[in-house]
Amino acid sequence: MREVVLQPGRDRSVRRRHPWLLSGSVAREPGAVAHGELVRVRSAEGEVLGHGDYSPRSQLRVRLVAFGKDEPPADWLERRLADALARRASDPLLSGSDGIRLANAEGDGLPGLVVDRYAEVCVLRASTAAMAARRDGIVRWLEASAGARAVVARDDASAARREGFTPADGLLAGALASGSVEIREHGRVYEVDVLRGQKTGFYLDQRDARSRVEALAEGRRVLDLFCFTGGFAAAAARGGAATLTLVDSSEPALAVARRHVERNRRSQGLAARFVHGDAFEAARTLDERFDLIVVDPPPLARRSADVPRASRAYKDAFLHALRVAAPGAWLLFFRCSHHVSADLLRKIAFGASLDAGRPLQVAGEFSAPSDHPVSLDHPEGDYLSGLLLRA
Ligand code: SAH
Repeated sequence: MREVVLQPGRDRSVRRRHPWLLSGSVAREPGAVAHGELVRVRSAEGEVLGHGDYSPRSQLRVRLVAFGKDEPPADWLERRLADALARRASDPLLSGSDGIRLANAEGDGLPGLVVDRYAEVCVLRASTAAMAARRDGIVRWLEASAGARAVVARDDASAARREGFTPADGLLAGALASGSVEIREHGRVYEVDVLRGQKTGFYLDQRDARSRVEALAEGRRVLDLFCFTGGFAAAAARGGAATLTLVDSSEPALAVARRHVERNRRSQGLAARFVHGDAFEAARTLDERFDLIVVDPPPLARRSADVPRASRAYKDAFLHALRVAAPGAWLLFFRCSHHVSADLLRKIAFGASLDAGRPLQVAGEFSAPSDHPVSLDHPEGDYLSGLLLRA
């Protein structure tokens, strides 16, 4: 097995079980390593510290999959997948939905791999060359052991450019009647475009927050900013919202949002408005008031250098939302980037509340549900949080 040898004194993060080994810690590279072949990591003193996936082009030079001196068994990947599946099957918090994340990268000891299951269709998203190289084995496992009738690839194209692999996109195995797969989430019906939708097709990570919106929606005028396919608005429709206004810059996403509202609404009389355009601009120019407002922008900060600009954008979006919030309104405000922490989100909300002269109560907080586990060893895996605020 090929080996990576660390610089003297650079063994601390591996000993603390952090799965990322940065290029600056490496004294000796292993030479040519086939994609998907594990490398052994040794300290400068020669001690074996772990094994992992080697990425010669990445700052994250090794993503560790095992710690300590023992070499992982040949079937380590299948074992991890089976463990991830068993954890979900035994988790009562995950019953009631057939849209579930089966594998959450580092959170499940599977760096570079996300698998989302939509009913009987699994969508596989690889973001490292090593995981992409294991694709065929993963597909076989999903069919044989996870009951997948079809497996679709939606590899991360920008990661593929960085890592130097050819991203797979499209049906890998089985058959699909259409690209639109129906899931049921606590009674809500959603159509997931597994072939063309954003990421793997749907934001499963907002499931718990959607349930909260459904519970709060009765009789309320609801604004869903950055709605994508209207996951929140459809939940509000099912919860008995009085009116809905949805805003997104993606026309195809809005087309699906229309169907989601139609299929989930409790009352025939529900007035719904779909605004195609910039959510900042739309929120700035709305002349109505709303009782329940969801602000769920895209990541905005993909690197730590983006944080100041992203913070201003988050604050702007939230200020616009506050301007149209009726007295006593509920506001749900989310961030979905590791670089903007839960604490920073609170500070941004506080700044906007001060500027707007509107004191707010924190009525609840959200994180990703338990099918998106974050390893305590890997704080970088924490990317999603939300605040439920009341005006
Ligand atoms: N709330 C959604 C997920 C939002 S993802 C859900 O629960 O499913 C972020 C969304 O913001 C994407 O759909 C993207 O199309 C949209 N978007 C990005 N920039 C935007 C902008 N400036 N104005 C409006 N929508 C935007």
